[in-house]
This record gives sequence, C-alpha cells and structure tokens, in this order.
Amino acid sequence: MKIIMAEHAGFCFGVKRAVNAISEALKNNPEVWTIGLPIHNPQEVSRLEALGLRVAEDESEIPSGAKVLIRAHGEPLSVIEKLKARNIDVEDMTCPFVKKAQDMAARLSRENYYIVLLGDKNHPEIKGILGHIVCDNNSGNQDENTKNYHAVPSAGNNSADIEHNVFAEAAHDANANFSHCDDSSGSVEGNISVKKAQGSHGNSEVVANEEEAEKVSRHTRIALISQTTQREERLSKVAGILTRKTSELHVCNTICKATAERQEAVRELVRNHNVDGVVLIGGRASANTAKLRDIIQAEGVSVLWVEEEKEITENINWFSDKKTIGIAAGASTPEWLIDRAKINIAELQGS
Ligand code: SF4
Repeated sequence: MKIIMAEHAGFCFGVKRAVNAISEALKNNPEVWTIGLPIHNPQEVSRLEALGLRVAEDESEIPSGAKVLIRAHGEPLSVIEKLKARNIDVEDMTCPFVKKAQDMAARLSRENYYIVLLGDKNHPEIKGILGHIVCDNNSGNQDENTKNYHAVPSAGNNSADIEHNVFAEAAHDANANFSHCDDSSGSVEGNISVKKAQGSHGNSEVVANEEEAEKVSRHTRIALISQTTQREERLSKVAGILTRKTSELHVCNTICKATAERQEAVRELVRNHNVDGVVLIGGRASANTAKLRDIIQAEGVSVLWVEEEKEITENINWFSDKKTIGIAAGASTPEWLIDRAKINIAELQGS
C-alpha cells in the first residue's frame, strides 16, 4: 500500500505557538489555566491536563494569583483587564494574525468607522475581536454595556500588509446617519450614545454571509474585517455588497492562509495522486477538520476520519481494497498523533 501525506497538515502556526507556550509554562507552574479549550483535540487536551492544564469556562472560575494563557483565538480586552485586576499572571498567546484583526478593529472604531465583522458570531475569535472595538461615550454615565475599551495596537504590527481601501463608486450620501458608536438603528442625535447591539457592541455587527451583509444599514464609513478562517471569495462578495451601504469602505483582509493551505493540500492530494481513500486525522469537534472531510467527499473520494490511531485498526476493512492512501490532518491535530497514525497504517501492510 502506497501512503501519500498532504503537503500541509496538522498544527497551524498559531495553535503550535500557543500549545508550546502552555507546555513551557507547565514546566514552571503546577497549574496553568486557559479560558475555554486551547485546542479542538481531546487527545492533546488530555495530554496537557495530565501535566497540569486547567480549563475554565469563564474568567471568574480562575483563582487569584493563578497563571493564565490566552489561547490563539484571543479574548476581549475586558476579560484580560478583569484577570489582571485579580492579580492573575496573564500570558497572551493570541495568534498574531488574530491580533492584527483585533488591532484593526480597535484602530478603525477609534477612527469612527462602523465595524462589520465577517464570521461566526458565536466563535470565540469573533467575540474577542468585538471586545477590542472602542466606543467613545461622552455621557459620563457608563454601565457595563457602555464601557470604553481602549486597545493599544501591538508594537510592530504592520497592518498595511493586510489592508486596502475600497472607495465606493456611489456618490457621497450627505444624509447618511452619524454612525459613531450608534445603536443598531444607525441613528444618533446630539449626544453620542452607546448601546449594545445584539451579539455585538453598538458600533459594530457580525455578518455570516452575503445575505446578512445585505441587511447592514447605511453608514458614513464602514470597515469590513474578516474572521481569519473565512474564504477570500466570500470576503470579496461581502465587500461588494457593502460598497452600496456607504461612501467609504475600508476592507481589512485578515484571512489567515493556514486554513486555505490545508484545504488546497487535500484537494491536491485527491486530484493529483490517484488515491483510493484518505485517512483524515482530527478531533470530531474540529470545524476545520470537518471542512477537509467535505472537500475530500466532494471529490468523490472515500474518507476515514479518525481521532485516535486505534481507530485505524478498528477499521481495517476500509483499507482492504485500497492500493494508495492519502493522509491529511486538521489544523488542531498534533504531530505526535499524525506520527502514530502513520505508523499504524504502515503496520497494516504487514498484517
Ligand atoms: S488558523 Fe491562522 S489565525 Fe487561526 S490560529 Fe492558526 S495561524 Fe492563527
């Protein structure tokens, strides 16, 4: 049986960096906390938990004086402030690509852009970016929902690399609503008020697709920022829709190549190597692994999705009629699991 590995497989840069930092921190601390799972891979989480990782559902569970690592998805600034206020040692392992999106959201909201985030409003990365949007409030009458968040862009952030301006061809609409920190209606008179729109801050909203982008109200200036895992094709389409909603559109292409590279690698694997099937290694809850499965199946190729190497021997019949096998893995699959799976597949040849 011939075995061919996808060119890009396993941990992306951001996940690898965060997991390595957790492993390092565990050498010097009996316990290290994360808020939410650091990675969608139960085997890797179990390995880290055995070394002392503790996973909290929210920051209030973490004891004062503890050590916390912010995972690659990032967190809202308010969460980090709360942790620091309780004397918790915070090590920020937000992926630099996510950090760029956070910094763009902070800067452009400060420059009075209405922020449209393209992505999944329930995803922690989107919640973290929303939590960096700055809302000015002159009323002096703030509650939890009207707090100002002053984000400081990280040093050395070359945002020019990832952004470009698109100016709508439409004539400037002199009657456009003043849109700085306005409510979801986009209408503010006199005082600048800050209200929390559904699932977002008042001067922003999250759209999942073109259909939702069509529902965005008109604003004087709009900044479109993308979740790092979005497809460029969708970002372009949403940008096209938003040009009709404003006279000034600022598009930040904050898409990370890691996801696209893994998807392109499995396409290349099934199209160019005549494989009879692909063993896909990754956690069942991993959305990016599920996407790889969909791509392989769309090409008409059989997939064996395994979370652990023992599932290879449990599915020995799947291999019986196959001469060439491809191996692929999601961005949250650790190298040691891929290696073990490869060894198990190679051993099948001798059985
Ligand atoms: S997929 Fe990209 S943005 Fe997300 S953690 Fe990995 S490298 Fe960072």
